[in-house]
Formats: sequence, C-alpha cells, structure tokens
Amino acid sequence: MDYLKLAELNEKLESTSKRLEQTSLITEFIKSASKENLRPVVLMVLGNVYPSYSRKKIGIADKIMIKAIASTSGRSEKEIVKIFKKTGDLGAVAEQVLKDKKQATLFSKKLSISDVFEDIKKIADFEGKGTVDKKISIIKKLLANASPVEAKHIARLVIGTTRMGVGEGIVRDAIAGAFNVDSKKVENAENILNDYGGVAEIAKLEGDKGLESIKLELFKPSKVLLAQRVESIEELFKRTGEPADLEYKYDGFRVLIHKKGDKVKLFTRRLEDVTKQFPDVVEYSNKYIKDSRCIMDSEVIGIEPKTGRWLPFQKISQRIKRKYDIKKIVKEIPVIVNVFDVLMINGKSLLKTPLKERIKLIEENITQEKNRFVIAKRIISSDEKEVRKFFMESLALGNEGIMGKNLNSIYEPGLRVGYWVKLKPAMEPLDLAITGADWGKGKRAQWLASFDISCRKQDEFKRIGKMGTGLTDENFKKLTKELKPYIIREKGTHVDIIPKIVVEVGYEEIQESPTYESGYALRFPKLLQIRYEKDVSEVDDIEKIKSLYSHQRGK
Ligand code: ATP
Repeated sequence: MDYLKLAELNEKLESTSKRLEQTSLITEFIKSASKENLRPVVLMVLGNVYPSYSRKKIGIADKIMIKAIASTSGRSEKEIVKIFKKTGDLGAVAEQVLKDKKQATLFSKKLSISDVFEDIKKIADFEGKGTVDKKISIIKKLLANASPVEAKHIARLVIGTTRMGVGEGIVRDAIAGAFNVDSKKVENAENILNDYGGVAEIAKLEGDKGLESIKLELFKPSKVLLAQRVESIEELFKRTGEPADLEYKYDGFRVLIHKKGDKVKLFTRRLEDVTKQFPDVVEYSNKYIKDSRCIMDSEVIGIEPKTGRWLPFQKISQRIKRKYDIKKIVKEIPVIVNVFDVLMINGKSLLKTPLKERIKLIEENITQEKNRFVIAKRIISSDEKEVRKFFMESLALGNEGIMGKNLNSIYEPGLRVGYWVKLKPAMEPLDLAITGADWGKGKRAQWLASFDISCRKQDEFKRIGKMGTGLTDENFKKLTKELKPYIIREKGTHVDIIPKIVVEVGYEEIQESPTYESGYALRFPKLLQIRYEKDVSEVDDIEKIKSLYSHQRGK
C-alpha cells in the first residue's frame, strides 16, 4: 500500500475533531490494510513506530530535521528556521518548501507504508559515531521521494510532535469496529501486551478468542493497576466493601519485579526497564523471594542510611535517573522494597485470582528482611476508628496516606478501577504540564521565569495558573534548558510550549476563574518538583480539580 494513502488519512483525521468520525475513518482504513501493513499502520496512526512496551523513541531534534529539510529542498537552514518560527510546525514547513521544489524536479519513487515504517525505525536505531549524518541521510532519502503531503506527515512522525497521532481510545474502538471484536477485550489485551499493532493482528486473525487468551509474560512489562481517590474513610468503605484491605501508601516508586531462577528484571509503571539502576533490589529479590517464575508489584522507598528514616520520593528519583556511579548511589540512598501484590507465581497468571488469595501467596513466597525486603504494612478492617488510627500512623511515618482495596478484587492491568482507592490528606499537590512561559527580566532575562501550568481535559491541556515562586535560580536554569526544545511559538516575551514536562505543584487554594480556560485558578502555585518519571498523559485532569474544589468548599 502506498504511504500516500496513510498521509491522506492523517489529513482527514486532522480536519475533524469529532471522535466518532475519526474512529470510523481509521476503522475503514485498517479493515482494508493487508496483514503485513496492519501493524505499521496502527502504530503510525498512533504517531509512533514503536509499541508502548518499547521505551525507544524516534527522538529527532528539531535542529536535525531543519538540516534535512534544508538540504533536500536546496534552501538555507536560516530560511527554514524563519518559516518554522512562523508556523511552529516542521511538518508544515516540509510540505511548503517541498511543494516549491517538486514543481521544479518531478522526480520521485513512490513510497510504500513499509518503506516509511522501516526507514523511520532505522533512524532511531543508529547509535554511536556518525549517527547524526546517518539519520539525516535517511530523512533526506524519505523526503526526496515524498510528495509534499507525505513529507508533512513523515516530518511530524520523525520529530514525534504531539500534533501527530490520535488517542489510544480511538484506535481501540477502531480495532474493535474493523474486526468485530469487543473493545474492552482490545483494551485488556493492550494492557498486557502494550502493543496496539500486535493486538490489531490478533483481533484480525483470531478475533475475541485470541484477545482473551493473551497472557502475562515474564520479562515483558505490563501496565499496572491504578487507584481512584476517595475523600473519606466512609467513601473508602463504600468503594471497597467491608472488611477492606488497608495498606500504607508509601511515597516511593512503583517497581514490578519479574523473576525466573536468578534472573531478575525490574520495570516501572511506565514500562521502563530499571534493572541496572537497582542492583540492590535485584539482589534482594533473589535472596528473599522463594525461587519461582513470578511477578511481584511493589513500592520501593529510599531510606537515610544512618537513621533508617524513610525518605520522600524526590530522593529516590535520583536513583531512577542515574546512569553512572550506581554502586556509590546504592550506598548513599539504600532502599526498602515493600511488596503489595503478586501477578504471577510458578508461571501461573494471578490476574483473575482474588486479592485475598494473592495476599496469602505473597506471604508464602517471601522471606521478609527488615529494612530491605518486606510485605507492605496492611490491616484488614471494617472499623472506621481503627482505619483512622492506621491512616494517622501512616502519615506520621512520612507516607502519603493509605490505600484501600477490595479483598475479592482481581488485578486489571492499566485500569484506574474503583476497587483500589487512595486516601490522602486534603490539598494534595497537583501534577500539571508546562504549556507556556515568559522570559524573565533583568538578571533573569536569559531564563524562562514564569510558567503557564495546565491540567488535562481529555487530550487537551487547559491553563490553571501561572507559576513563578518556589523556584531557585538553579530551577530556572534547569527548566529553561528542558523546555527550550519544545518552544513552538514566540510572541514578545511569551512562548508557547508543547506539553512535555510535568511538574508537581503545591498551592493554597483552588478558585474559580474566568481567566484560565480550565475555569479554575490555583492560589499561590509553588513548584515542588519536576516529575521526570511522569508522562504528560498522567497530568491531573479537570475532574480531579473539580472534585478537589468541591471538597474544599464543603469544609
Ligand atoms: P499519586 O500521585 O497519588 O502517587 P499516582 O497517580 O501516582 O498517584 P495512584 O494510582 O493514584 O498513582 O496511586 C497508586 C500509587 O501509589 C501506585 O502507583 C504506587 O506507586 C503507590 N503505592 C504506594 N503504596 C502502595 C500500596 N500499598 N499499594 C498500591 N500502590 C501503592
């Protein structure tokens, strides 16, 4: 199939914001795709060439793309930058300059879907010396053979802009529609496989039955079960039923431990492999989990070596990012692994096994070692008073609050289901995206100094405040450096920024606001930390803000 057809589909998708129309366009398209093209089409419609289990990114900097467009079109880089500044979209730039050029040359080979898919994968796979030149030469080859509209979508795919790709929910429904399968089964399959391309193939070839039989696999990351927030113990019991399983909500870092014999791999909730960063957790898993093919779910927290005091998440986040001197940092910030769930024992998936039985299996399969590898602290209770005491005790130890879980519930990867809930003190900080900023004045003129912070409303970002306090000079520098590549437009001293960076923001109060598109404003927003481990899709949504607002007013 010609890539042109996919580029035209992208054009049509762009021309409507109606979800149903987008879904039906994709449904028809994937129905007609051949077996070989199905996977590339599904992944590229999502704006990627890699499935979500792979942490590989196409990762081409704007600068490289500008060079490639300049060289293909015979224009200077300066000219390209000038047009880019006006449009803010390198895809549109490629389309425009190639339109002018093509009229003059008329030469090109037709691009197929697999040409584009395979070539773009190659771009991301190059490593080491001469990488940049190799990348540019492949992009040039693609652009030289592309029609202007193809060039637009190739360029967007290669730089991975947020303008590329539709949401996962639309693709899920399109797969269900195209192959007449249940969309919930499509989603469940994706939550285990993390590869919509592969899920589409199974849906096409094996239907509902095939989707149902997708299994959890050792050493392949799967999504984790997530919680919903409740505001009171009463509400907690309503959701979980009584008695409930109550656990400390540790302020650490979620790690899924996969183990077979002495082979251990560790994955984060974003499916990243962090085995290298945590040799101590590998060692503990080998020592304290009884030998079996298993997957355990845990929260890893840092401790202060001298006092054994539990440290807040910021500390352990240094370990997640660290690529060198690992041994040193293992000593500086030792960790405790708190196992709270189990997804597989002896190679058998426990996703459909009720929690109360999974708890027994955890107890049977772990030898606890204080301050190293333990089972998460839990009580089983239906007594409000007892739970309040447990909540206060948890907070006093530096935890975020407590989790409440339904004892009969199963484990549904990737879902934020009502039978796992979290109870935290009010005025919890929010995770927001930075979507704009202003250059500073005077001594801060070279830094971005005040930031538009936004919450999520489905796939869009809506401003909820401007944040300038809580930042040290070092923060200003760091944020400016991180945000600069994502600036898409400049007007006076203000810049628009593609949402990529997530920040945790504290505040005094939520107010209604006619100024910001979200309809709310944070009073005195203050930066608490940059949350590198979070993706913008995890930014808090407007529903959460609404519920915090009404909770606050209810007081
Ligand atoms: P938050 O910002 O409140 O941590 P979140 O979006 O990161 O919320 P939630 O699903 O709301 O995640 O809360 C569950 C998270 O809490 C888990 O991902 C895990 O990292 C952490 N956690 C700590 N202790 C537990 C526990 N005992 N059981 C389950 N999750 C726990």
